[in-house]
Formats: sequence, C-alpha cells, structure tokens
Amino acid sequence: MDAHEHGSAPGGPVSPTPRAATAHRPLGKPGAELSGGLLRDWQARNRDVSLPLALRHLQTAGNLENLRLAASGDGGAYRGPAFMDSDLYKTLEAIGWELARGAPASLTDFAEEATSLLEKAQQPDGYLNSYIQVTGQQRYTRLAWSHELYCAGHLLQAAVAHARAGGLVRLLDVATRFADHLTSTFLGTREGLDGHPIIESALVELYRVTGAEQYLQLARQFVEERGHGLIGDSGFGSRYLQDSLPVRESRSEAGHAVRALYLESGVVDVAVESGDAALLAASVARWDDMVATKTSLTGGNGSRHSGEAFGDAYELPPDRAYNETCAAIASFQWSWRLLLATGDSKYADLMERVLYNGFGAAISADGTRFFYVNPLQRRDDHFEGDDPGRRREWFSCACCPPNIMRLLASLQHYLATTAGDVLYLHQLGRASVDTDLGEGAFGIEITGDYPWSGAVELRVRRAPEHGCGLAVRVPRWSGATSAAVNGEPLAARADEHGYLLVRRRWQPGDVLAVTFDIRPHLTYPSRRIDALRGTAAVERGPLVYCFEQADQPAGVSVEDLQLRPGGLSERSTTLPEVGRTIVIESDAVQLPPVVAGGPPAGGLPYSTRHGGDNGGRPGAAVAVPYFQWDNRDGRAMRVWMPLSRPTGPDTGSGREPGRAHAPTDND
Ligand SMILES: [Zn+2]
Repeated sequence: MDAHEHGSAPGGPVSPTPRAATAHRPLGKPGAELSGGLLRDWQARNRDVSLPLALRHLQTAGNLENLRLAASGDGGAYRGPAFMDSDLYKTLEAIGWELARGAPASLTDFAEEATSLLEKAQQPDGYLNSYIQVTGQQRYTRLAWSHELYCAGHLLQAAVAHARAGGLVRLLDVATRFADHLTSTFLGTREGLDGHPIIESALVELYRVTGAEQYLQLARQFVEERGHGLIGDSGFGSRYLQDSLPVRESRSEAGHAVRALYLESGVVDVAVESGDAALLAASVARWDDMVATKTSLTGGNGSRHSGEAFGDAYELPPDRAYNETCAAIASFQWSWRLLLATGDSKYADLMERVLYNGFGAAISADGTRFFYVNPLQRRDDHFEGDDPGRRREWFSCACCPPNIMRLLASLQHYLATTAGDVLYLHQLGRASVDTDLGEGAFGIEITGDYPWSGAVELRVRRAPEHGCGLAVRVPRWSGATSAAVNGEPLAARADEHGYLLVRRRWQPGDVLAVTFDIRPHLTYPSRRIDALRGTAAVERGPLVYCFEQADQPAGVSVEDLQLRPGGLSERSTTLPEVGRTIVIESDAVQLPPVVAGGPPAGGLPYSTRHGGDNGGRPGAAVAVPYFQWDNRDGRAMRVWMPLSRPTGPDTGSGREPGRAHAPTDND
C-alpha cells in the first residue's frame, strides 16, 4: 500500500494531517536526534540492553508461541493474560522507531520473523488475536475484558512506527487488513467498544498514514460511544472503564488510570482532526483538574492499588501511590497531543516532570529491570502482593517494560515543534534539530549538561535567509532566567505561552545561551493533601529527589530524620551501581529511634502531647534523584520528609511547583 505521508512528513509518533486544528506541528524530517547526555544514554541503553531482553522474554513467556499456535490453527494451550499480543506489538513499535537510526540486525531480523508469524496467524477476513484464536472463544463477545481492540490498537501503532521510519511495509499491510475488518464490523453499529482504550488514537494515527477516512470515523465513533454503559460488566463498575460519563461531560479523571489516559490521546486526536473545539476543551479541563488534584510530585497518576485507579481529589498518598509506569507513559503521550493542539508550555512542563521522575525511575540504572508500581515511599518491611517493591526483569502482566521501550526509542520526537516560522524547543537535552520552516531550513545544535546543569546553548548551523524565531521553554520551576545572543544579554522573559522567543536573522554560528535557575529547593504540598501534611520534598531543576537509606549516616534510619528548612548543599559524584549523579544534603534533625510498643501512650502510636522532635540532634539527610533510587540495597526510601517544625503558608521558604518565584527563595 502507498503510504499517505511522504516528503517532509514527521517521522515520529503523532503526526497530525495538514488540515488538523493544531497550534504546533511536529518537526518534519530529518527532525531531531539526541546527541549526548542523560536522554541519549537512556535511549542507547534501551536499544542495547532493554530491547534484547524483551526479545528473550517474548520467547520464554509464550507471546510468540501463542501466535504460532494461532497460525497453526491446531489449538493448544494459550499462555498468559489475554493481551499477550500487545507486548509483542509494543516491542515491534520500539524496533520501528529504532529503524530510523539504523537498528541492529538482531532487532530487524526479529521484526521480520515476527511479522511473518503475524501474516500466518491473521485470518482471511483480517482478524488477528492469538487469545481468541487459540482458546476458541467467540470474537467480540467479552469486550469489557478480552482486550481484542486494545491489542489491535497496539498492532496499528507498531505498523505506524514502521511506516514512518521506513520499516516493514508488510506490517502496515497486516494492520490495515485488521483495521479494514474492524471498520466493516463496527462502523455504524453500536456493538463494539473495548474495555481498554488505545484503538481510538491508533485508528487516527493509521488514518494519518493511509488517508483512509473510515479509520478516523471509527475512532470518533468509539470516542463518542464511551460513557453510555455500552461496554458491559467489567466486575469493577463502569467508572473503571471510563464508561460512566460521556467524554464531553466528564470533567475529572476516574477509574483505571492507564485506560483513562490512553482514551485522552484518542479524544485529542479525534478533536484536532475533526476541528472539534468542544471535544478538545473537555480533555483540557480534565488535564487541568488531574494536574491540580490527582498528580504526584513525580508526575505519576493513580492513587489506588485497587483497580489501578485514580483516587479522589488530593488523595495522593506517597506510600500507597500506585503510579503505574504505563500511566506515566500515557500521560506523557496525552500532554504531547495537547502541546501540539494548544502550544501551551504547561504541557511540556508536565512531560518533563513525568520523563525525569515518574517515568525515568521505572528503569534500573543498567536497563535490565523495571518498575510497574512507582510509589514515593518504601519502608524496610515493605510487602504488597501486587508490588514487590523492587524492580523486576519482567512481569506476568508485562505491559510496562515494552511500553517503556517504545517511548525511549521515539524520545527525540518529543523535543521540539514548529509553529509558523518559529522553532520551539520543549525539552532541553543535548540534541541536533533540523527542520524546514517554510522559508528555508533551520538547523541548531543544543549543547549543555541538562538536567544536571541549567545552562543550555543553542548554536545555529543553518537558518532561513529572511530570519525566523527560536523559542525555548522556560520551565516553571526556574527562577530568574538569563539569556544572551552571541554574548549580548537580552530580556529573558517568557511569553504568555511560557517560551523565551527570539526572532532575528539568525546566521550560522549564532549562539543563544540560556541559563535556568536550577539550584535545589524545598517543595511543600498543598494543605489539601492530608497524606503529606507537615512534609517537604527536595527538587533541583526538573529532578525530584528522594532520601534512600543507603545514603544516610551509619546508625540513622531514614524514618527518623526530619528536614530543617534552610540549608541545602549539592555535590557532583559517581555512586556505585547508580552512576553519575548530584547528591543534595539537607540540614536535618535525627530523632531517637521509635521503639514499637514503647512510649508515649501505652503502646499505641498516638499521644496527647503534640510535637515530635524533642530529643533530636542536628545532623544531615542526603538525597539522590528519584529516578536513580533502588539501584543499591533496596532499603527504605522516601520523597516527602517530615519537617522539624510545623509549617504553614507563612512559614514555608520554598516554592510551589508550577509557580514563578523569585530566585532568592532558594535559601
Ligand atoms: Zn503497565
């Protein structure tokens, strides 16, 4: 099939059609490439360590064998949960994005073989699902649970990745045969709605690649049908499946977090391709509400283990936070779509928070182990049936690891966008960015040591003759920002969208230097978050910090430390098993150990006496970036630390995340 997208069409995830109602566009080819630094390291580790590990697990966990059984048609014993095919599809998507950089033969050979297997397993009418085919169940009769359209969605996403990266055309053929089957089966009926969204955004992306309108129509139908109780009984109720309120009416995220957030990507995709401002506004309203009331400091979402679900507003327990890795990925993908739709930097701000914290922590330093659940506190005696408390190589429900891999493989596409004759930089890692601004090619090199350093340099390699704009996101966590062009200082003020925009006749060799205030500071929770009252966290630039037992002085439990606002100092170092880092030391009070069953109140952990720091002695507490935790002894960790004295709105010396502030607030 001829691909619809061509020429300078973007080569990454989410590529709206020219007629889509978006404020920004993704970069056309060649686009961006990470050229060094932390994000480049993550991407290389993903290709060299994590993806090969996924290939092994797809073999041993039974994902490939399920498809072989489906292809043979002889029945047999299906292994694993109903959505095993999706693990393979996410891996194929990751390989697809890697192809643009020249993926190693081990990955491309795997993709070839897996595609051959999918061709064999696909039924004559285009249907493809190893769970249904091997177990012999009726198609589409248990959509609340069968994940048939969910798996189809991930197949479509994988095919889109290969189409955009110049990969396997055969995979796109498999996907379009299935998508054609879906449209002929469901378009215009009210009989199909999957319990787990993702088919919505996948169909829109396939529409963008192929130009086939019916895929967009079916996506719109699935989005509009949700919230009318059509899915059936999930066993968890309709909220769990986002089936209790239509997406045009709902103003708050509810139910299973990953499902809710995947659905949002579909909502925004349908809205921008249809020019449906009301549909977009509903999604924006939910994003605002989620960020204000249901998001952890790390950018994680989902306060409840039960149902892997969003909690009530301000229900944000650090120790019981679920914060599934897939929810972080889904949030990142949703925010990207809203960033394209609106051009507002608040979406890039959240993407950065998610990327460096809630998402970044899901992978071990060596790339071989992964978190499914991402709490902000872990005690030494941690036990939880659905959360081992330490990263694992793989899971019986393995949604997260290959999801991590497809995001890391495509990470460079999320760095920058264009709007008219302006190139917008949203993420500030080392990269090389090239795009056509209509008036001519614009190429820049981003250097610096972000996120460890707040100094970023943008060196122009080539520029349109008549000038153009270069815009850099000013993160909301940064205090006074300074900037200069070729050494000449300029007013470093963000515009109403949150960007420092410099418009001029750029010449090759011009340098825009921007320095963000990245000094560490304390962050205090909203008084509405009961679980965090009386605590503070340490942040430095985009990085949330945590206190691990391994870094505290000998004989001092991290649970007996209280922070004393005032002194924060930082030190660059390399820690064994962790790697390069910057540790932060805070003034603290070390309290005597609590003796279980001892004083003060006859054994109960309560007292008629207020206060807690009597008898403490001054000391220090040491923090490392949250994304680097659990690479050592796996002992206690906490992000939010009790303060050594009561604090309220008047006594806090720190900043609220997401608010502008004076740089002198630092100390
Ligand atoms: Zn997951």
